[in-house]
Amino acid sequence: MVRVTIFGSMKHFLALLLFGLIACNTTPTTNTTENPGAISPSITKVKWRSLDTLDVAGFNADLIPGKPTVDVGVYFPSNFDSRFKKVTLPWLMESLRAAKEIYQPTGVQINLLWVKTGEVDPKHFSIQANEVPGIPETEYVNMYVHSRRHPAELTQHSLDAFNSIIEDAPDNKRTVYLVVLQDVFFPFLEVSEGRNWTMKSVRTGGLSFPGYSYCNTLPSNMRGVITITNLSTPERLRRTVAHELGHKVMNVSHEYKSTHPGHEVYADGGLMLYGDGEDIPSGEAGRWHLERLLLSPYLYKEDQNGNKIWNPDYKEGGHYYDPLYGDYVVRFDGAAPIDENW
Ligand SMILES: [Zn+2]
Repeated sequence: MVRVTIFGSMKHFLALLLFGLIACNTTPTTNTTENPGAISPSITKVKWRSLDTLDVAGFNADLIPGKPTVDVGVYFPSNFDSRFKKVTLPWLMESLRAAKEIYQPTGVQINLLWVKTGEVDPKHFSIQANEVPGIPETEYVNMYVHSRRHPAELTQHSLDAFNSIIEDAPDNKRTVYLVVLQDVFFPFLEVSEGRNWTMKSVRTGGLSFPGYSYCNTLPSNMRGVITITNLSTPERLRRTVAHELGHKVMNVSHEYKSTHPGHEVYADGGLMLYGDGEDIPSGEAGRWHLERLLLSPYLYKEDQNGNKIWNPDYKEGGHYYDPLYGDYVVRFDGAAPIDENW
């Protein structure tokens, strides 16, 4: 009797275990290297609706046909956790308006396509942006050359999230998508001590998934994605959208004039440094920021019939030295991350 009971509960336990295993197996397991950008069978597209209360025409009222323009769409999930308050829709619109102002001296205008809201699968509220890199940058080449050799790769979770969130459209790869999420963690390698590196993961306030890091690993439908996760301080509010857009459309890291790119550069002056700068410099002394911006494949000019005449696309997937940029590149040495007599 007792044995039967134990056997009975054992069977129940095994059944539960088996069910658990099957249930786990229904989660995405697609291998990124074998099938990059594949849509996992369990991914369902978000049903978005445009926010009619938002005055898109008003936002775009100052656009002048014929000037270089970038199209931007906003996805703002409606079902975030109640304690998430780092991004609100008014803040996002304010950061976008600030970006319009910051890019105004360059002649580049921002065309807001729409602002959409809808229920996103909560498992996509927080993502790890890319796989943990395996090879640290050392002194033999600079970070842009290093990234071209070893580009960042989205995690399957990020791929699934963006495939679920971003709608299919003919101009997918030319459009910038501002996707509001709760958390985007970005793993990177840093020297810990001696000749040892360690992995860290930074909680980002905005992440641009730029060409110079991801090169041709981003599927074209999500090439324009930028995540926004924290606008809750005045400095973040003012600069986040403009700065992340800068990574995307100028295709440069944190650099300005004589400051070579590094991971976290705090200084004033340039939009592409951490700090409160908003300058987009030009010429060789300005590291060709303006020239690179104006060559961006995300830009178009509208002709007299309202057709978008797009800039030429990248020739080698959009790494920093892509031939699209011609001479508008800076060649510089890599920095020694540890004692050269290691
Ligand atoms: Zn940045």
